[in-house]
Amino acid sequence: MRLSQAFQPTLKEVPAEAQIASHRLMLRAGLVRQTSSGIYTWLPAGLRVLRNIATIVRQEQDRIGGQEVLMPTVQSADLWRRSGRYDAYGPEMLRLEDRHGREMLYGPTNEEMVTDLFGSTVKSYRELPKMLYHIQWKFRDEVRPRFGVMRGREFYMKDGYSFDLSYEDAVSSYYRIMLSYLKIFRRLGVQAVPMAADTGPIGGELSHEFLVLAPTGESEVFYDAGWDEIDWDSIGLDPQKEEDLQKLREIVKTTYSATDEKHDLSAWEAVPEDRRRGGRGIEVGHIFYFGTKYTESMGVEVSGADGAPLHPHMGSYGIGVSRLVGAIIEASHDEAGIIWPEEVAPYRAVLLNLRPGDELCDQLCESIYSRDPEGLLYDDRSDRAGVKFNDADLMGHPWQIIVGPRGAKAGMVELKHRASGERSELPLDEALAKLG
Ligand code: ATP
Ligand code: MG
Ligand code: MG
Ligand code: MG
Repeated sequence: MRLSQAFQPTLKEVPAEAQIASHRLMLRAGLVRQTSSGIYTWLPAGLRVLRNIATIVRQEQDRIGGQEVLMPTVQSADLWRRSGRYDAYGPEMLRLEDRHGREMLYGPTNEEMVTDLFGSTVKSYRELPKMLYHIQWKFRDEVRPRFGVMRGREFYMKDGYSFDLSYEDAVSSYYRIMLSYLKIFRRLGVQAVPMAADTGPIGGELSHEFLVLAPTGESEVFYDAGWDEIDWDSIGLDPQKEEDLQKLREIVKTTYSATDEKHDLSAWEAVPEDRRRGGRGIEVGHIFYFGTKYTESMGVEVSGADGAPLHPHMGSYGIGVSRLVGAIIEASHDEAGIIWPEEVAPYRAVLLNLRPGDELCDQLCESIYSRDPEGLLYDDRSDRAGVKFNDADLMGHPWQIIVGPRGAKAGMVELKHRASGERSELPLDEALAKLG
């Protein structure tokens, strides 16, 4: 994309209500625009990030047997009456009426709809387990939308749902998904620690929130340093192996982590003092086993191996895709701007032409740009070099390929790595090889 032609409205002045770095940077870098309280338009660069995150989530969910569907945003109130949640849900639910006076709602979550879909389709134990997920806009009329897309009213969520025949199978599904989440967050370039979360009336150990550590997080967190040290790639737990899922379960059991809501002082005191870590965190995901709550209340059953009907056990698994855009920036920025992790960056590299109009600079830039016009952002604007450097740092592309008249003459470019700040002058081919 040529920056001179891009719809990339960077801002100089940030609205005063943007209190935290990610919110300010998202507005300044031209990733989103607010249209009303807690509701945003995603601009091209922001949308690329949102899509990159969704792609990683999708690949990793498919890898463990998830099957993607796309359920509607607008749901019927009757569906929610079947589970008894229509009245219970409260003012976060946006309630609507269609022209025939039928009560509808904009989905805040999809347990009812997916249980109904499953129930109307799957009839026999032979068809289980199943794991369905979708990535869809949700609406929750939050009391205090704030921090930009981090607590929006309309937001983009991956929600997945597992269906198993027994509690034991559901536990396997749960830890398989936990493993998949750990991988997703690694690929997203953030550390997200699973922390014990409230299980409400269901009880048990099977509810975890994933928190990205950041000083602006809304939750206070407590965890064992083990979570910082585990090298998941080298342990190489395999989500398809039951014994590996058990190993993960053991790690979770023996490596303390909890948010303020679930913090257990006596367990905390058992963690050696020099291994206690604390701080604040942003909830970017939540996994939850809720047994037969919905299959029972909505009358969904399958026939078991002995012919007798049984209610499948369910779990739900959310990832805040749009919240993650903010959370990643909270965890990865400096005074100059965003520092995108490689896999989520809107563009892998920005190409800075320091002297547009100079024949050699233009030629060299065009030849680089033509290799990957989709993946490169070409700053071909006639602005001063300083403006280009500042914008490149603000937008946070992992790499900057800098072309100036002196280097162009010698067939050299400068390569800057945004995260480390390292710069090196290289022959073009070497620079491109380094970018991969
Ligand atoms: P929170 O505690 O922040 O209100 P939640 O516990 O209500 O979140 P869940 O129902 O667990 O949220 O939804 C799954 C995920 O969706 C959350 O972990 C979070 O990442 C994301 N999410 C929830 N509410 C919002 C929101 N208002 N804006 C953006 N993302 C959200
Ligand atoms: Mg909430
Ligand atoms: Mg929560
Ligand atoms: Mg939650």
